[in-house]
Amino acid sequence: MGTNYYAHLNGCTKCGRYDEVHIGKSKRTVRIHPDLGIYEFADWRKILDSESVTIWDEYGTRLELDSSIEVHGWLDEWQRWPTVEVWALEDPYAKDYLSIGDYLDRDGYHVSSHDFC
Ligand SMILES: [Zn+2]
Repeated sequence: MGTNYYAHLNGCTKCGRYDEVHIGKSKRTVRIHPDLGIYEFADWRKILDSESVTIWDEYGTRLELDSSIEVHGWLDEWQRWPTVEVWALEDPYAKDYLSIGDYLDRDGYHVSSHDFC
């Protein structure tokens, strides 16, 4: 169940090099990357809207970014939980707790700062 998705960031037009970053597994967990400033799903949405970023699934298929409506429909496949346990990210200390592991972001998406597939 669910498919892993990856973003290709910082692509070089000269040599083709890029950074592959795990977005997460659809219908399940969003992978956040505090080292890249990605603390919650909303941060990913902003990055994925960039024209310089491409999105790929685990089978090597590129998701087209032409239609932002389609992209957002796809993004909404992620598991969203009732927001009863949402961390208060406004709390300046909350980001220190990210190392503890999984939590729900402000929009109720299940996110994790740990590696998984
Ligand atoms: Zn290069």
